[in-house]
Amino acid sequence: MDLKIYNTLSRSKEVFVPVRPGRVGIYTCGPTVYNYAHIGNLRTYIFMDILRRVFAFNGYKVKSVMNITDVGHLLSDADDGDDKMSMAAAEQKKTPEEIAEFYSAAFFRDIARLNVRRPDVTPKATEHIGDMIKIVQALLDKGYAYETDDGIYFDISKFPDYGKLSGANLEEQLAGARVDINTGKRHPADFALWKKAAPNHIMKWPSPWGMGYPGWHIECTAMSNKYLGDVFDIHTGGIDHVPIHHENEIAQAEAWLGKKAVNYWMHSEFMLVDGGKMSKSLGNTYTVDDLAAKGYTPMEFRYMCLNVQYRQKLNFTWEAMAAAKTAYERLSALLYRHKTAPAPGNRPEIEKYLGEFHEAINDDLNVPMAMGVLWKMLRLPAGKDVYDAALVMDKVFALDFDKVASPDHTAEAPPEIREMAEKRREVRRNKNWAESDRLRDEIAAKGYKVLDTADGYRLEKI
Ligand code: AMP
Ligand code: ZN
Repeated sequence: MDLKIYNTLSRSKEVFVPVRPGRVGIYTCGPTVYNYAHIGNLRTYIFMDILRRVFAFNGYKVKSVMNITDVGHLLSDADDGDDKMSMAAAEQKKTPEEIAEFYSAAFFRDIARLNVRRPDVTPKATEHIGDMIKIVQALLDKGYAYETDDGIYFDISKFPDYGKLSGANLEEQLAGARVDINTGKRHPADFALWKKAAPNHIMKWPSPWGMGYPGWHIECTAMSNKYLGDVFDIHTGGIDHVPIHHENEIAQAEAWLGKKAVNYWMHSEFMLVDGGKMSKSLGNTYTVDDLAAKGYTPMEFRYMCLNVQYRQKLNFTWEAMAAAKTAYERLSALLYRHKTAPAPGNRPEIEKYLGEFHEAINDDLNVPMAMGVLWKMLRLPAGKDVYDAALVMDKVFALDFDKVASPDHTAEAPPEIREMAEKRREVRRNKNWAESDRLRDEIAAKGYKVLDTADGYRLEKI
């Protein structure tokens, strides 16, 4: 079956053709580890995870690489402002290394809780400075870059294709843009490959141009090239990276290599909160822990994300979160019912649903549609075969279907039911089995199943 993905570069859905048959190399721009990841960032990593799972489902051998930015990402994605790592270090009175270590660990913990598989390689920018310097030097040698008092800059006038990813009309965009005199840039869209460090700058390394630190964009080119080769299959990231970061990556990589480096560019849309932007000042940059504090599990959040296709905006509201919780609980209860029912023999409908599921995920990761197929399948009369098919689908959803357990409704059962259950426990102690069975049936008639456990009983809604 064809696997179609939307390529930002061609602005169309394309049938995926790998560089090497049966294999796929995927690079994802990773986090800048100066803060906790918020739910918007996490949506993007859930997309990355679904992407690799869809390829694995199709039998590809996946190699996924995600960098850790622990230097060089300045406050603005262009070349302005302080380094985010140094800023956090100064604020928290720690070293940048301590900040990086703390927030990397928090990041990996968060994605693990969301069943986002850790990429196969997670290189740190600070451990690849030599690789970056090599590319910067090559770009200087080839005449694509120039040196100023402030650093080494990429000269976009030498790369006529600049802007091809976003389709931006550079001239229009830049009419009236100010040229920053401090950097000595020739063109406002020229971007830093390397920055020269002021004496008091903390993170810096020796280079042919004195002590300094890399630009953010060159990190991704150096690390994707090192771990995936000169030409690789897919590069992903959030949609905000299209106009600057990825445009710059394309320019420097193609100028350096003299050919196209990435075949498919895929971008996930943003998460909004209450219909607007997420921002610290609005206090809506929620984390996985913020969700937990309100009683929402990582799986419920993942379920919510899976119900919106990655190229659509996802509007987070607490009402939507509550609805996702209810739906996920209902899903788990249904799955449990199928899990505990015998398989009723050959049911061709199940194969049909699995086929529809496969078609949906192969149509540019239409996971919401695949989820619809699952819900339809769950309406079949209870049977273990349905549960087994749901487990196959869960290789992509990764919503812990293998862990569904009996939902315990004892605490929320009406007092009348609980009294009957107590009474039943009493008569069982006295070995009055006839009365015990009568009470069980009476409880069932009122919509609850009573299950005997080692320490008493449990009530489940029927
Ligand atoms: P950063 O750590 O700031 O580089 O961001 C990490 C990833 O999260 C990037 O791929 C961004 O594109 C993505 N991202 C940032 N904000 C949002 C958002 N509101 N919704 C979805 N993705 C986001
Ligand atoms: Zn990147």
